[in-house]
Amino acid sequence: MEKYKTIDSHIHCGIQNVALEYEIIRPLLEAADIDAACMFAPVEDIYDRDDPDFVDTPAWQECRSRANNYLKGLASRHHVYPYFFVWNDFNVKELTDEFKGIKWHRHNLEPEYHYDDPLCEEFLTKVFERNLPIVLEEEFRNTMNLLERINGRTPVIIPHLGMLNGGYDVIKKTGIWKQDTVYADSALAYSSDIKDFIETYGCRKLIFGSDFPFGIPENEKKKILDLVIRDEEKELILSGNILTLLHIAEVQ
Ligand SMILES: [Zn+2]
Repeated sequence: MEKYKTIDSHIHCGIQNVALEYEIIRPLLEAADIDAACMFAPVEDIYDRDDPDFVDTPAWQECRSRANNYLKGLASRHHVYPYFFVWNDFNVKELTDEFKGIKWHRHNLEPEYHYDDPLCEEFLTKVFERNLPIVLEEEFRNTMNLLERINGRTPVIIPHLGMLNGGYDVIKKTGIWKQDTVYADSALAYSSDIKDFIETYGCRKLIFGSDFPFGIPENEKKKILDLVIRDEEKELILSGNILTLLHIAEVQ
């Protein structure tokens, strides 16, 4: 495979309710010539996605905390940029400097974030202060409301080119990607949509990710390598853009 500095910006990694330990991910990254990865906990370690009436409990808060801290532990030894997966305890105290981004995730029919909780505002304020990118996967209405509330104060990455935020065409029509601080990741997106996105917004708005275990890093990277664009543009998508958002000069 051709050599471009590469960061996979979307990998789920955890060892509690699903077996996605770092040790099984590392060989997949090596096989795809991926130098580093942004990692978030699996949804299964954050809340019970199958129960719309789910009520948070101390046991779930501890599970969530262990999930985030597992990634924080990896960061010191590996090329891992841990993201903090936030849920309704909005645990701002645990959002320590090691975390390089935020994962915000909910699908239709899953338990709702408590957007009106003052803790939510407190959490967001800290995220704005640190200018941490938020990977925002939510249903359409909540995506639009939260983007309006964030109002450019921190970068937002819409994963899968919006496939699970209402769909690519629906999100495109809103015009949100014309905003300077709103990006997209390529994970599991159709190659035709990736092409259209680049033609519409340029290469500085797109960020490579695989969404492992749902996507395979090597296959997802191939979609970027196969694009008919310049080398420098591929490198922006594969690492340059996310490094800028992470405030990192280069992959160490
Ligand atoms: Zn994901």
